[in-house]
Formats: sequence, C-alpha cells, structure tokens
Amino acid sequence: MYKNVYLKKGKEESLGRFHPWVFSGAIHHIDGRPEEGDVVRVVSADGKFLAVGHIQIGSIAVRVLSFEDIAIDSVFWEQRLDAAYDVRKSIFSGSSQTNAFRLIHGEGDGLPGLVIDVYDRTAVMQAHSVGMHVCRHEIADALSKVMEGVIDNIYYKSENTLAYKASEDGGNGFLKGGLATASDIAVENGLRFHVDWLGGQKTGFFVDQRENRALLEHYSQGRKVLNMFCYTGGFSFYAMRGGAELVHSVDSSSRAIDITRANVELNFSGDTRHEAYAEDAFKYLDRMGDQYDLIILDPPAFAKHKDALRNALMGYRKLNAKAFEKIRPGGILFTFSCSQVVTKDNFRTAVFTAAAMSGRRVRILHQLTQPADHPVSIYHPEGEYLKGLVLYVE
Ligand code: SAH
Repeated sequence: MYKNVYLKKGKEESLGRFHPWVFSGAIHHIDGRPEEGDVVRVVSADGKFLAVGHIQIGSIAVRVLSFEDIAIDSVFWEQRLDAAYDVRKSIFSGSSQTNAFRLIHGEGDGLPGLVIDVYDRTAVMQAHSVGMHVCRHEIADALSKVMEGVIDNIYYKSENTLAYKASEDGGNGFLKGGLATASDIAVENGLRFHVDWLGGQKTGFFVDQRENRALLEHYSQGRKVLNMFCYTGGFSFYAMRGGAELVHSVDSSSRAIDITRANVELNFSGDTRHEAYAEDAFKYLDRMGDQYDLIILDPPAFAKHKDALRNALMGYRKLNAKAFEKIRPGGILFTFSCSQVVTKDNFRTAVFTAAAMSGRRVRILHQLTQPADHPVSIYHPEGEYLKGLVLYVE
C-alpha cells in the first residue's frame, strides 16, 4: 500500500544500525510520486524491506517510524504514545510536585519530527516534519485515549517549526478542548508558572532545564544572581526560593519579561529582591557592574545548522568571556548550549578559551545535560542537545 523508496547500493548500512534518518543522497529512485508527508517503505537496492517512515523534501528525506513492515495507523500511534507515557510514569513516580514534562521527544521516543509537552491538563503538540503535521488529528485522537482523565486539552503549535506552509491548512490552535478549560499555570518542583503556549517560544516553557534549575536553587543562598536569557524566569524563581539576596532577570523579549514578572509575583508576591530587564544580552553584560556572584547564561541555539558552527562557537566564547570578566571572585557560572550541532567538546573548548582569555582560575563543578523525559536513542546520539557546565570562578 505504501510507495517504495529504493536506496542506492550499500546505502542501507545506517538503517541496519537503527539510525532513523534517510538522507536524500542515499535514494536511488522512488516508485510513483508520493506526496510530501506520506508514509513510504524504504527498501534496499535489491528490494529488501528496511523501514517505514515519513517522506519530506530536504536533506533528511525519510524519518523512520518503524523498522518493521507495519501500517502507521491509530494502533501504531496509541502504542508509541502509551510506551512513552509509561516511561514518564517511571521517571516521575511518587512526585506530585511537577505536572510539566515532555511526553514525546522525537527520535528519543521513536517518533522523529514530533514533540509533545504536557502542562497540567493541557498537552502542547509540535510537528517538526510534514508527516507529523499531516497526522496531527490521528495523533491527537490517540493522545486523548492514552491520557484519558489526565489531560483535557491539546494545543497544536507548529506555525514556526515547519519549513512548509502548515499555517495555511490549519496552523496553531486547539485540536481538543480550548481556552475555556485550559489553565495556563503549571507546576515544576512545587513552583508555579504561566505557560505561554499561545505566543511563547517552543511549546511555551523550557521543561528541559527542570533539574538544572533545582541544582541552581541549591547554590543560591545569599548570592546575587544574574539570570541572562531568562525567558519566562525559570531559573529566577528557583534562585529566589533558594535564598538569593537579589535576582536580576534579562531577556531581549519584552513579552517574556512581562511573564517573568508575573511568574515571580505568582510565587513570591511583593518580594522586592527581583528586577527584570528587557534588553539585549551583550549590551547588558557590557554595562553591568561586577556585583553578581551567580550567573546563568542560557542563550538560544546559536547554530541551527552545521555550516553555522564556527560563528556559533565564537558567540559562545564571547558570551562566556563577558561573564568571566565580570563575575565576582568565588562566583558560580551556570553556562549552557542547546544547539544540537554543537558537541559537548565544541562547547567545552569555547568556554575553556573564554576562561583562558580572562586569566581566572576556573574549575568544573558539574556537567549538565537534559533530563530523563528528553531521552536519547542510543542509535541517534544527535538527540543529546543540551550541554551545561557549572563553573567555580576564583
Ligand atoms: N533560560 C530560559 C530559556 C532560554 S531560551 C528558561 O529557563 O526558560 C533563550 C532566550 O534568549 C529566549 O527567551 C530569547 O528571547 C532570548 N534571547 C535571544 N536573543 C537574545 C539576546 N540577544 N539578548 C537577550 N536575550 C535574547
């Protein structure tokens, strides 16, 4: 029933190692003319079945959904979502302090091109491939079944994640439930926050920093904290709970700064330790003094593609150099990169170079990554995207 995509001779090797992508250069020819987003069968040059997946125009031509010759139907979606939900139940077993988590992390959950984050009783679904966009209603139906009684609303938010004009045939909007039933407040480690799924970045919040924020809380007592690239203030309200003397949150987006203020108010009403500034990071780092002894640098992905890598590394170096220049002696720096194409070694070299330029004595206290609800398939190491270092600066 699905059209066959024939690979060139010898190009089946990476699929043999369960890597879930077929690059366009590996394709010999395609039977018929599948539409973008269709399910196709991938077969070797001699006609042997290899995988089924979604086809798309671009360098990643097929994203593999299964290495078995199965139908991609409602049973498939329910099984995959159920399996992912089971893992999350294990991860969060016994915790009632968090109701914001990632349910589907693309390749890490065997569903390349799909991200689903859950915030209390609302799931926010994001397609990064045309195939997932085409299947969004089927996926929403399966999700409602799998999480029946747990979620009431499914918001689809793919306007900015699809290369193709998805917005023209149904971009952002609720697939189940609606604004009337969806509270925009979720809880992480007992702290409450507004999720800006309508106008915010990604699915509305960065659930991937949950554990790193908790670690920051531990280091905050009595410190003067700068949360640079704060978005909606995640690290800031943890620093406040941790007993920081003052917390300054900075982001170039004034919408994010408004929500940061609202989030601080939600948890620490009337607390005067917090100030927020809508300002460019480099400008702020240039004009600020040397009062901070705990700095967080969590910039957006500087490199989205491999060819931008060199500039990205320079960006990380410059940014970190500013922090090393100004942080107080005995200060602690939480520094991150969320660019998938920047490796752990790349990032470490950039930070190392910045440290050396400053001449300060710097030690690594922790090496951080993404939490367990962002699992990495062992066959798809590219899925490990978040890298962080906690540094002690003398
Ligand atoms: N630390 C945040 C997530 C950061 S995402 C959290 O825990 O939720 C990256 C943020 O950087 C975004 O909010 C974006 O608005 C901001 N940003 C992008 N370019 C910037 C710049 N030049 N200066 C300041 N902020 C910037």
